[in-house]
Amino acid sequence: MKLNFRIRRKDISHEDWFTEDCFPGGYIEVIDMKCLDCDYEEEVEADILLECFEMTDDDFPSCGCVNCNGDNLVPKDVYDQIKGNFIYK
Ligand SMILES: [Zn+2]
Repeated sequence: MKLNFRIRRKDISHEDWFTEDCFPGGYIEVIDMKCLDCDYEEEVEADILLECFEMTDDDFPSCGCVNCNGDNLVPKDVYDQIKGNFIYK
């Protein structure tokens, strides 16, 4: 079963490293990730994650967790669906 997750636009126009040439519109697309094993949370650039995801047959993208060295860092929305939490604040 494919699991849905949201891609969030993050305003970066106030960052020191921001340039309009590289980031037209002043935002990047990010996905909020959370580790299924240790609950570690991280924000990942959507482009990077989705590029890897397209090369797999997985139902949702996942990547390595720097906190527990596991391989179960998944989008927070997927985390909630797997863990059975459907309450969004
Ligand atoms: Zn972890």
